[in-house]
Amino acid sequence: MQKKLVKFVRELYQTEKFIPLHAPTFGGNERKYVNDTLDSTFVSSVGKYVDQFEHHIEAYTGTSKAVATVNGTAALQTALYMAGVKSGDLVITQALTFVATCNALYHMGAEPVFVDVSSISMGLCPRALDIYLEENAFVNNDGISQHKVTQQVFRAVVPMHTFGHPVELDELVAVCAKWNILLVEDAAESLGSFYKGQHTGTFGAFGAISFNGNKVITTGGGGMVLCKIYDDGMRTKHITTTAKVPHPYEFFHDEAGFNFRLPNLNAALGCAQMEVLPMFLSQKRALATHYKTFFENSDFQFVEEPEYGHSNYWLNSVICPDEASRETLIKETNANGVMTRPIWKMMHRLPMFEKAFRGSLKNSEFIEARLVNLPSSPIGVDKNAT
Ligand SMILES: *Cc1c(COP(=O)(O)O)cnc(C)c1O
Repeated sequence: MQKKLVKFVRELYQTEKFIPLHAPTFGGNERKYVNDTLDSTFVSSVGKYVDQFEHHIEAYTGTSKAVATVNGTAALQTALYMAGVKSGDLVITQALTFVATCNALYHMGAEPVFVDVSSISMGLCPRALDIYLEENAFVNNDGISQHKVTQQVFRAVVPMHTFGHPVELDELVAVCAKWNILLVEDAAESLGSFYKGQHTGTFGAFGAISFNGNKVITTGGGGMVLCKIYDDGMRTKHITTTAKVPHPYEFFHDEAGFNFRLPNLNAALGCAQMEVLPMFLSQKRALATHYKTFFENSDFQFVEEPEYGHSNYWLNSVICPDEASRETLIKETNANGVMTRPIWKMMHRLPMFEKAFRGSLKNSEFIEARLVNLPSSPIGVDKNAT
């Protein structure tokens, strides 16, 4: 399998050089807009591209207000702050996620609670969530869910759309409503992914997107908070920009804010990348179809988008028959200059989260032991084009 796969990937990318997992791709006005910020000297916290980039994301995702931030982790931390996450709170998420999901809630003073992922989406499972809450939570007289033993408040549920595949949102929204817990989506990986026609990250009160260099589009570093309610969006902008009260020259700040503002330089790159996003998405979808065909009639199972959703196929992935075949596949492909990676180690295996509460993690364990990510950069773009 590994030899055939190396040959197949090299044919797809038409190169004998090193093939990365996901490289930034520029195919439009990137140089023009970035140079414009240099020419105008507006490279920092003031400039037109930040507003433009936020409007691009609002139009594309259909959210009421989008707020640009320095990175996706900062966007998630802001989303949790806005959701009212405080010191001592519990935040439910998946053990099978990138560490940033947990770091964000940890730095708000909260503790993660790990619930299993669904075998349909590889993201937070609504059935496992409800079972966990039935066993461990009670609703107090104010309608707030608390932990039966420690009395800690379950403040938010944070599903993550793994590799761009949308989670089961209708069901998750229903479970969150039943227990009166706010839904905050880690949509860091899912720009361009839709659930029943609606963009991921817009179902909860807040969602967070990342524009890191390895994501679908990049701003170098950057993120975006999606706010369902416009007024929440205005407050989000306020607290991410030092909470300064507008005034021609006075410095008055009405609360302890963050400096999470995205520089205009990075936003310029984002504006150009938004113009080529639809092209990237169709190229990535075509790539996924190639992989799907390649793995057909093998004992390696290509991971497809859930039936209800439209995935951006950020990272293509395959489930190996067992852990040993996964090791061989990863070793051999990397030794031959084709980059592949295992999925993340589950969060409760990391020292800082090993004591976290958790439910059964059967599906997560299965995927953790078998999944391999495959090279997924969009194909067909002239990488030197300006
Ligand atoms: C990329 C990513 C983030 C954080 O994004 P940064 O921009 O790198 O801070 C958060 N959560 C998940 C699941 C991610 O993949």
